[in-house]
Amino acid sequence: MNAGRYDIAVIGAGVIGTTTALYLAERGLTVALIDRKGISAETSAGNAGAFAFSDILPLASPGIMLKAPFWLMDPTGPLSLPPAYLPTIAPWLWRFFKAGSSKNFERSIAAQAALMRVAEAETEKLLERTGLKHMIVARGALHLYDTERSFNSAARGWDRRTEYGISHRHLDRAGIDAIQPGIAQTFRHGTYVAGWSNVADPKAYVVALGERAFAQGVHLEIADIERMAVEDAGVRLSFTDGRSLLAAQVVIAAGAWSHRLAALIGDRIPLETERGYNTTLPKSAFDLNCQIIFDDHGFVVSPLGQAVRVGGAVELAGLDCPPNFQRSKTMLAKAARFLPELNPMGGTEWMGFRPSLPDSLPAIGRSHRVPRVIHAFGHGHLGLTQSAATAKLVADIALDRETEISLEPYSPDRF
Ligand SMILES: Cc1cc2nc3c(=O)[nH]c(=O)nc-3n(C[C@H](O)[C@H](O)[C@H](O)COP(=O)(O)OP(=O)(O)OC[C@H]3O[C@@H](n4cnc5c(N)ncnc54)[C@H](O)[C@@H]3O)c2cc1C
Repeated sequence: MNAGRYDIAVIGAGVIGTTTALYLAERGLTVALIDRKGISAETSAGNAGAFAFSDILPLASPGIMLKAPFWLMDPTGPLSLPPAYLPTIAPWLWRFFKAGSSKNFERSIAAQAALMRVAEAETEKLLERTGLKHMIVARGALHLYDTERSFNSAARGWDRRTEYGISHRHLDRAGIDAIQPGIAQTFRHGTYVAGWSNVADPKAYVVALGERAFAQGVHLEIADIERMAVEDAGVRLSFTDGRSLLAAQVVIAAGAWSHRLAALIGDRIPLETERGYNTTLPKSAFDLNCQIIFDDHGFVVSPLGQAVRVGGAVELAGLDCPPNFQRSKTMLAKAARFLPELNPMGGTEWMGFRPSLPDSLPAIGRSHRVPRVIHAFGHGHLGLTQSAATAKLVADIALDRETEISLEPYSPDRF
């Protein structure tokens, strides 16, 4: 059965696909947004809700290579890798290791900073245009360090951010208290970033963007795509329910599952998932003024509209292994130690699949094999933050317009 014909089909209705569908419809294209579960049903639903424009340092860095072995020794620590998954992820880890060399690290920072500049400006415009500014509930982020040593080592990263125009303020204990009361006395060093914001509810934000997209004519199709075939007039997408749809162009924005769709047209892209965990507590759990980032422990405490969300961590265990919610519990127990007034009761646990490429940069660009297909995935820890920038770039690619930054660092073929 035929499910229609469109100028462009976007696969994946997470924050990347939904924002992209909106941008494409605003430019006059007929758009089908296809998802097997609906709007924001996966990773984009439960994240920490931060527009983290200052986060330009890629995970693959010379520093992480020193920290990772210690983190891996703690089975519920900030980084975990079940031994059974090691053979599968070994090629990705090797590329991650190479991306962390000093030279490649520098290249990735420059590319991340360029994308963040577009992201910050484009997000502002999008919030204004869609009337969603009221969804921003808090501004600023407070990074906290356990020791003077870890602060000094992080300070080098802050100096790098200064070079890219990112302003921040280092804080002593009195400075920390002035921004956020209620933090354990052991934290003597912090850094505050004002150019950061949080949305009230990341799922509701994507749903609201979806409503704006439908108002612009975007058609939502609930379907699981299992085949893609190139025809003279476009790309035929076949669904598991036997229906199919023809689109002149296709955007793959299917988050951590995107490599499986890319493989349907022969593109082999080394996408892995960094699984992350959190616990969402009632708003009354803690009087939170801004996002708090415990840099030495790989987790954050985020202010949402009606909740406080405690989470983070990286688990390299693929798409199919069941969740281990001990990770959520471990972070919550640490949060209760670091914020003695936090009430850890009554929370809801969640796990999500960050879609991650080895150099911490997304893949944004046309497939060389099938130029009618545009890749838009792999945003790792920063999908919400970079969603408006990705949508803008993809819209320019789809219309064969010049993009405002060079897309070379994000080329899907770079590996
Ligand atoms: C704990 C945690 C905290 C985070 N915090 C932040 C943060 O504060 N700020 C930030 O910027 N980012 C954050 N992130 C990262 C962010 O959530 C992701 O980068 C982002 O959600 C990825 O969006 P996406 O649209 O690419 O993927 P998803 O939201 O996963 O959407 C992909 C969609 O594709 C669909 N799909 C897949 N395969 C098919 C198929 N064959 N057919 C049809 N549909 C298909 C899925 O159903 C899904 O709905 C966090 C992530 C985690 C895990």
